[in-house]
Amino acid sequence: MLKDKVRAKKNLGQHFLVDLSIAKRIVDALSDNQRNAVEIGPGMGVLTQYLIQRKTLNTKFIEIDGESVEYLRNHFPECNDQTLLQADFLHLRLDELFAGEKFSVIGNFPYNISSQIFFKILEYKDLVPETVCMLQREVARRLASPPGNKDYGILSVFLQAYYDIEYLFTVDEGVFNPPPKVKSGVIRLTRNSVAKLDCDEQLFRTVVKSTFNQRRKTLWNSVRTIQFDHEQIRNHPFMKLRPEQLSVAQFVELTNVIEQIQKQ
Ligand code: SAH
Repeated sequence: MLKDKVRAKKNLGQHFLVDLSIAKRIVDALSDNQRNAVEIGPGMGVLTQYLIQRKTLNTKFIEIDGESVEYLRNHFPECNDQTLLQADFLHLRLDELFAGEKFSVIGNFPYNISSQIFFKILEYKDLVPETVCMLQREVARRLASPPGNKDYGILSVFLQAYYDIEYLFTVDEGVFNPPPKVKSGVIRLTRNSVAKLDCDEQLFRTVVKSTFNQRRKTLWNSVRTIQFDHEQIRNHPFMKLRPEQLSVAQFVELTNVIEQIQKQ
């Protein structure tokens, strides 16, 4: 017998969107200049049905939950062995999905792993020109927020280094089954023109992480967890600031100053 719905599993972050006009708005936010797309966590297919209608788009659906996979196979002929993979998105080789071609990412993300999804996208940033996704509103705001805002954090800096991020709209709890505890937000990330940052990217990551890990301290206090001759940076104007006050460009500048001192 055909099951008419999937039992929501909390540990998989399953909150099914039931408002079709919102589903359509999310899919419409994906620009149509790409040939390929990946949907993370199609669930019962509320976004899938609109993605399928885009005839110029070649979409692959990645779903970890066997019950959802069975549901999708039974309800959408377009979900077949080639297009629908039962897999953990976090463990996929994304470069193999479209034989090395670029692809956009779309999804109502499982909120419990949204940061890990973004770190994964960053690993493949040169293959992913655009992402449209729904996540917890606070996280969505944080990612899209400019420096100087208390919401600005590690992932905001890493993502904003390579993507322009727009906060598109807020979605209320009541349009999901079961409703989540918090409001949701939809954002769009568009790859910028930065191929590589103007500094040692590994050191940049260290600088961003070490300073945000002590975000209430001034940089003068937090850079001291990084190995270099700290006295030489004491009078740098950034040292009086906190990490959330620095833009991506200023983190690049700071990284270069530290690298120069390390090289001496
Ligand atoms: N797109 C659907 C479901 C959103 S809920 C809707 O909008 O209604 C999040 C979905 O992500 C669930 O279907 C869940 O099973 C799936 N999911 C959770 N973790 C996953 C992972 N690691 N890889 C792929 N899919 C995952």
